[in-house]
Amino acid sequence: MRYISTRGQAPALSFEEVVLTGMASDGGLYVPEEIPRLSRDDLAAMAGLSYAEIAFRVMRPFVNGEIDDDTFRGIVRDAYATFSHDAVVPLNQLDANHFLLELFHGPTLAFKDVALQLLGRILDHFLKKRGERAVIMGATSGDTGSAAIEGCRHCDNLDIFILHPYQRVSEVQRRQMTTVLADNVFNVAIEGNFDDAQAMVKASFADQGFLDGTRLVAVNSINWARIMAQIVYYVAAAVALGAPHRMVSFCVPSANFGNVFAGYMAHRMGLPVERFVIATNANDILHRTLADNDFSKQDLVATLAPSMDIVVSSNFERLLFEAYGRDGAAVAALLERFQAEPTALAEAPLARLREQFASHSVDDATILEVIREAHHRTQEVLDPHTATGYRAAERERGDAAVPMITLATAHPAKFAEAVVKAGFPGVPLPPHMDDLLEREERYTVLPSELAAVQKFVAENRR
Ligand SMILES: *Cc1c(COP(=O)(O)O)cnc(C)c1O
Repeated sequence: MRYISTRGQAPALSFEEVVLTGMASDGGLYVPEEIPRLSRDDLAAMAGLSYAEIAFRVMRPFVNGEIDDDTFRGIVRDAYATFSHDAVVPLNQLDANHFLLELFHGPTLAFKDVALQLLGRILDHFLKKRGERAVIMGATSGDTGSAAIEGCRHCDNLDIFILHPYQRVSEVQRRQMTTVLADNVFNVAIEGNFDDAQAMVKASFADQGFLDGTRLVAVNSINWARIMAQIVYYVAAAVALGAPHRMVSFCVPSANFGNVFAGYMAHRMGLPVERFVIATNANDILHRTLADNDFSKQDLVATLAPSMDIVVSSNFERLLFEAYGRDGAAVAALLERFQAEPTALAEAPLARLREQFASHSVDDATILEVIREAHHRTQEVLDPHTATGYRAAERERGDAAVPMITLATAHPAKFAEAVVKAGFPGVPLPPHMDDLLEREERYTVLPSELAAVQKFVAENRR
């Protein structure tokens, strides 16, 4: 198994190389050259297995023997032992055929833990084997930074630097990052906004000279291993509800499209899925593209579901590559046009996407209404991201005999602002975090200047 770029010009890589690389040199994203198959017998044999064992079986072909089976099993087991629920990602029934897949039982209470607990351990394994160290740099407005820090805090061969905009991140989200006092974790508060922080990270990846040859690694969702880890819970949830003998549908609160793309991969591997419903907030590029063939950027809107506030969905490129019949040149041309001006997909690829995907956009007023309505009907308090999914699932529900599984991407305690606005007194943090507001914090405030940030990284990496 090798990995190829969605733009067709970069060299093919091994699994180890693709995990350590991030973006392809032609500007594309890496995808597997062939999609491994899960037969009906493979799926049937997963009934009743632990999450870790299903994870091992689903991911094994992507790893391609580059980590031996025993070691990989151990990595997977350790990654998911950090979750506070024995099922790792439990299903919670909402009504006769609508289920929530709770992806928020990891250390930072959002679904990004599922991928980042695994990615940190895989990176550390490969670096140890090579006798190398690496630096991770990322910018965050919330969920990704804390999940990456939790995923790397025990990794001997990694130093992680996460930039957040000073005084512009909620207290819970800041403290989830800054109270991790491990020697290899560095939180930097930038005197600027998220875009300033993001621009400095991008510039550092483009010119890595300041690190004197130490590798810089990206842990955002362009890293293939994150997609790979997310394929697993689609399979596990469908098997729990009767796959391969019974179809299911999924509804996914979406932003950069990494999560729902992983579901699509599970389907391509052989999981029977009737359709995927994409839920967006007011930042609705995915919905506009699918519904109106309006593939264009619009100004960012700050919403009650901030982890879905994006202008461009980076991982949509991976789906476009499939829709365009894996024609890298066509994808590159489309994305070049998209960067310059509003554009549209060609008819045939769009028709292909519409066979498998529906979409729905949910504004802030509706998010609040849904949190109240879902509580009234089920006693569940949804987080604002999951609320977009709940509404989209209700609107786009197809065949009643096919269960709808809505992905619950965050714990409601993490997004108290929306929950309180919806009229609830707030939701307590789970027990392992109930002293979060008293814990010691550590972070460094730096001006929004590339040279100052790079100097800090170069001097503090170990
Ligand atoms: C990151 C995130 C999303 C969006 O996921 P994508 O993979 O970017 O589509 C949705 N909800 C929450 C809570 C998140 O943290």
